[in-house]
Amino acid sequence: MKPDTLLIHAGRDPAAQAGCVNPPVHHASTIVHPTVKALLDSARNPFDGVTYGSFGVPVTFALEDAVNALEGGFRTVAVRSGKGAIATALLGLLEAGDHTLVADNVYGPTRAFATGMLAKFGITTTFYDPAIGGDVAALMRPETRVVFVESPGSLTFEVLDVPAIAAAAHARGATVVMDNTWATPLHFRPFEHGVDVSLQAGTKYIGGHSDVMIGFVTTTEPLHERVRCAATTLGGCPGPDDCYLALRGLRTMAVRLARHQATGIALAQWLARRPEVARVLHPALPGDPGHALWRRDFTGASGLFGLVLGPHGNDAVAAMLDGMRHFALGYSWGGYESLLIPVFPEKNRSATTWAPGGPTLRVHAGLEDVEDLIADLRDGFRRLGGG
Ligand SMILES: *Cc1c(COP(=O)(O)O)cnc(C)c1O
Repeated sequence: MKPDTLLIHAGRDPAAQAGCVNPPVHHASTIVHPTVKALLDSARNPFDGVTYGSFGVPVTFALEDAVNALEGGFRTVAVRSGKGAIATALLGLLEAGDHTLVADNVYGPTRAFATGMLAKFGITTTFYDPAIGGDVAALMRPETRVVFVESPGSLTFEVLDVPAIAAAAHARGATVVMDNTWATPLHFRPFEHGVDVSLQAGTKYIGGHSDVMIGFVTTTEPLHERVRCAATTLGGCPGPDDCYLALRGLRTMAVRLARHQATGIALAQWLARRPEVARVLHPALPGDPGHALWRRDFTGASGLFGLVLGPHGNDAVAAMLDGMRHFALGYSWGGYESLLIPVFPEKNRSATTWAPGGPTLRVHAGLEDVEDLIADLRDGFRRLGGG
């Protein structure tokens, strides 16, 4: 099955649910069993059937199966949020005394989790230049257990050479964990590029409607037990309604993502020609430093990208953003509506610096008509210039 078809069929069995197209939502903590033997058997294999609410109900398993089919891993574990997925993967894989290598352009809370929570448990982190490629080998220590990649990175959108980094990590016995939220498995196939553990904030494109928080960790077979055990121990099981919303969002992700991509690229191209814009940060543009790697490894883009303005002050930028009609000011992304916010990547760096000479903005291209979005940006630039 091609990915678009897989999105329709994965994790679905209408015959097993009275012909209903979508799975039922069971609100359950206690699951009753008919005999002592059935109770104890169920507890021994809590994911082969329904044992207790915190291990998941049928809609949880349907969602996990669907995400896993798309990612091409062994199994997926659903958790309460994307941040929960990061915590679950890292706490499941690392032990006191271990060392991790984390790309300098990762999502801010990933950095905070490494320098805060992991450090508290005696796990050290070295941040590396996202352009490092196979030279990451030089940073590997005997105790390096995890190499964390995110590509393109949050806020600045540098593309990493994931296969080269993975080869260097595997040569030293380390595991490669990837945050694949930007591309989704529709546009980047992590397990075909050397990734061992792929995580996603399902909050973004899988949910797709700005109403659900959920995360996923997908692994190869040997790593599944450790991640599943961490998820269960941490108690971060997603609620059944959120699983239902995520599964419903997943069914239309391919058509939404195609539109997010097309509008994002059209906006990026338009912005690149504007005198107010110093630089557009979008790997699908031919002039982007990550373009060659993106073309080699990705099959598409999403609707999230960045731009650097010329040297304008905070008041001018606020005048531009406060007056937008279609682009809203809000965190998160991946919903149907466009967003435009100021971001501060320079605060989230240690191995490299970010000093592009002007304010950085992050754009999420929603599903509106692109002409309306361009008109909104054109008016915004008038306010930026004081007009
Ligand atoms: C939003 C985001 C997350 C966290 O997801 P939440 O569901 O908001 O916790 C993780 N990684 C990336 C790249 C994100 O953009």
